[in-house]
Amino acid sequence: MARKHQAPKGTFDVLPADEAARAAVHEAAARRLGAAGYGRIETPVFEDTGLFERGVGESTDIVRKEMFTFEDQGGRSITLRPEGTAPICRAYVEHGMHRLPQPVKLWYRGPFFRYERPQEGRFRQFNQIGAEAIGAGSAMVDAELIILLAGTFADLGIPDAELLLSSLGSPAARAGYRGELSDYLREHEGDLSDDVRDRIDANPMRAFDSDHAGTRAVMEGAPQMLDRLAGEDAEHFAEVRSLLDDAGLAYTLDGSLVRGLDYYNRTVFEFTCDRLGAQSGLGGGGRYDGLVELLGGPPTPAVGWAAGIERILLALETPPDPEPIDVFVVAGEDRARAFALVGELREAGVAADLDLAGRSFKGQMKQADRSRAAHAVILEPDGTAKLRDMSSGDQREIEPAAIVAALAAGAR
Ligand code: AMP
Repeated sequence: MARKHQAPKGTFDVLPADEAARAAVHEAAARRLGAAGYGRIETPVFEDTGLFERGVGESTDIVRKEMFTFEDQGGRSITLRPEGTAPICRAYVEHGMHRLPQPVKLWYRGPFFRYERPQEGRFRQFNQIGAEAIGAGSAMVDAELIILLAGTFADLGIPDAELLLSSLGSPAARAGYRGELSDYLREHEGDLSDDVRDRIDANPMRAFDSDHAGTRAVMEGAPQMLDRLAGEDAEHFAEVRSLLDDAGLAYTLDGSLVRGLDYYNRTVFEFTCDRLGAQSGLGGGGRYDGLVELLGGPPTPAVGWAAGIERILLALETPPDPEPIDVFVVAGEDRARAFALVGELREAGVAADLDLAGRSFKGQMKQADRSRAAHAVILEPDGTAKLRDMSSGDQREIEPAAIVAALAAGAR
């Protein structure tokens, strides 16, 4: 026997039975975001490695450890995208979108790739829905995006997602705070993980994300940027909060929320769900006012979020069933007649199917049941036909020539 292959570690197949739930997430995002003026954008699944090194940041976990990077046949360094924001800002700059009315509101969905240790809810290829509003600094944009994500979760049947909210202030204000945090970490150097100790200068805020017990204990007493917001940073955050309050959206302030990426400033947020266990993050994001400029565009404020589709599916209490077909055609003897009828039904927009494996009449009836079709059409050997309502079991004669019209009228 030939060797059997398996999907690569940390990846999975989406089988037809899983598709309905995924489609529901796509539709909910398209509906919510479309209605708020967000247009869908698609960028390539791979980009020049340099985009992520610059855009996500050299000192982040993603760039240091998690990228799928390879050299193509032309000697270019290519990386499978680990996140969507840097590619979208690249596209914003490349297509001169700063000349469009601002903010430019975009949403996306698709696969992302991170070399992480796979576990429940954590994969090496996973899918995200995401939204970005580029070109406006107003707190209203932050609030709009947070409210849209909460609404999307609610539409999908996750009404209990918890919102954590914080602000990282402006880069200038944060520079002072980072020094303070580095000093604090150095005082407790002996209790920190090697990883955090190595980055005391390069990325001290990363210590808040550590799951190392000693580091966590140190971080309980660490100074937080949230307590040091001043001036316009404080005003901006107060406005975001008041807009969320007015919208009736509850949140918990969490000064330890820093998010893993370098590009955030001011508002950061994350939605979590208890049902998810260790990987509790459903989605999150924040403001990244410096990123477009860092990628060669004009100074451009921006804010966005991404949410993991697999996490959303895990959080759903009752995932939707696959759509059933409208009608299953059971052939008495003349299978060609059944085949032709199914063709006509499909042309008329009726979701129709038939047995293709040579089953007996009884086997076909069982198949009709399993298909969860609303109706079965039974073509009798004498040329007559019956229409059966599969839920009630009621069955009546139907004129063969009238079948398509009758079912097309009832089809969705
Ligand atoms: P991030 O870009 O890290 O903020 O991720 C945004 C969201 O994507 C997270 O809240 C998760 O829902 C999801 N996500 C991130 N990494 C993974 C992964 N390795 N596997 C599955 N989902 C992920």
